[in-house]
Amino acid sequence: MSPYEACALCPHRCLVNRLEGERGVCNESSTVRIAWAGLHRGEEPPISGEVGSGMIFFSGCPLHCAYCQNRQISSRNGYGMEIGIEELSTLMLALQGMGTKTLNLVTGTHFIPSIVEALIGAKQKGLTLDVVWNSSGFESIEGLSLIDPSIDLYLIDLKTLDEGVSSRFCGSVRYQRSILRVYDYLIKKGRNTFIDEDGLLKGVLVRHLLFPGEPAATEEVLRYFADHLKESMHLSLMVQFEDPQGMNRFSKVSQEEYDRLLELLEELEIENGFVQEIEDSISWIPDFTQDEPFPPTFSEVCPYFLELKRS
Ligand code: SF4
Repeated sequence: MSPYEACALCPHRCLVNRLEGERGVCNESSTVRIAWAGLHRGEEPPISGEVGSGMIFFSGCPLHCAYCQNRQISSRNGYGMEIGIEELSTLMLALQGMGTKTLNLVTGTHFIPSIVEALIGAKQKGLTLDVVWNSSGFESIEGLSLIDPSIDLYLIDLKTLDEGVSSRFCGSVRYQRSILRVYDYLIKKGRNTFIDEDGLLKGVLVRHLLFPGEPAATEEVLRYFADHLKESMHLSLMVQFEDPQGMNRFSKVSQEEYDRLLELLEELEIENGFVQEIEDSISWIPDFTQDEPFPPTFSEVCPYFLELKRS
């Protein structure tokens, strides 16, 4: 039985038959939709490598965060084009042909079965890239178990452990209720995080974005990381928060708040990972209707993606 027939790929567990056209919270059928593919140099250095990471941005999302910078593609009926499994495999190989070392799958949770199939097909045809699962962490254990054997690096969020923050920023309290199960699963998998001989990061890189006005919630995440994750995973602390609707609904993160959290990193002896400086944070809202949604120094569209888009 296909996992799409009673979909439980994410914690919403809608149990709808997506093969028969039924839709759950993500509002996606079983046909994959993507919004962009190409090289992107904005990831952490051992993921971007020299030429950039080979990214595929999937359309749709089961989680609808209030601050999502990719709202244009992640919202219900968001921007994107349908793509078949074989074409998806070919796209993966086309990214490899652009010289990248990593295949970076962004928000593919709701298409996991199709992605697994496309990866198998691509590997049979010579795909050797490290596969990066770039996700909010809003997967069910069933969903994660399906994709896990294909993944070299989890680039996975730990947005919050606080119910109120989960409701306010992540669109649902369900995120807070499910994220610890995801981390329990990853801990049990026993993956170690390290940089290999080619300079590529393997294992689990936990991404945490500081929410403005919520330093206590970040402190809770850092303490959890120190107690449970720091021996086997790396941390990426990010501060590039941007209100996508430009409504200034959220106050800015202050330097003072951030400095206190950086001190806490030291106190907790969290040493492996990456810290973004406030002044270094470049934030923008990508426009995926453009061939190059990102600043030109950061990205390069995949020619095969353009071919598909224009066909
Ligand atoms: S991916 Fe999640 S939101 Fe979408 S149908 Fe499946 S369980 Fe529901």
